[in-house]
Amino acid sequence: MIPAYIALGSNLGHPLSQLRTALASLAALPLTELKSVSSGWRSAAVGPGEQPDYLNAVAMIMTELAPHALLQELQHIEAAQGRERTEHWGPRTLDLDILLYGDRVISTAQLTVPHPRMAERNFVLYPLREISNTNLLPNGMEIDALLRECPANGLEKTALPLRDAHFPENR
Ligand code: ATP
Ligand code: MG
Ligand code: MG
Repeated sequence: MIPAYIALGSNLGHPLSQLRTALASLAALPLTELKSVSSGWRSAAVGPGEQPDYLNAVAMIMTELAPHALLQELQHIEAAQGRERTEHWGPRTLDLDILLYGDRVISTAQLTVPHPRMAERNFVLYPLREISNTNLLPNGMEIDALLRECPANGLEKTALPLRDAHFPENR
């Protein structure tokens, strides 16, 4: 089993429900266990035009799915929750990105891991720090060092209930 960290984000269609549904789908993936989930973090949207606020979180899974198979599963979950790809970085019901896949460094046309833009994204780094077992990323970067360069800029930790009773840590 490989530990993988997944970034979840939504700013359409009741983001809290979107993240909760997505987490249930992650927990139900084949060859995969959902191990931990960060708090939900709210932030103003970056991207084209006026957009609703985002709700973001990071989840840790243990999986035997290969990286590209995992990506495909994540894209199925996005599609099932009505993700439409219209404009780049436009508003979306659900975005699921692979941040880290064990200590693998992957660079293919479909998949880049560690996620290439995670280093500058406060809405990734803050939740990741909550649940990460390690400070050191496989590309040599350190979460704490990245956070020092990454202002919170209005990013807000919420007490929204992302987790359900089925999470092991809540049993
Ligand atoms: P960003 O990658 O900046 O967060 P985005 O998540 O909005 O943008 P998407 O439209 O969700 O971008 O995905 C575009 C493509 O990115 C996908 O089709 C996928 O093949 C590719 N991709 C590359 N690396 C990753 C990764 N680590 N996780 C998810 N998708 C990835
Ligand atoms: Mg993304
Ligand atoms: Mg994406």
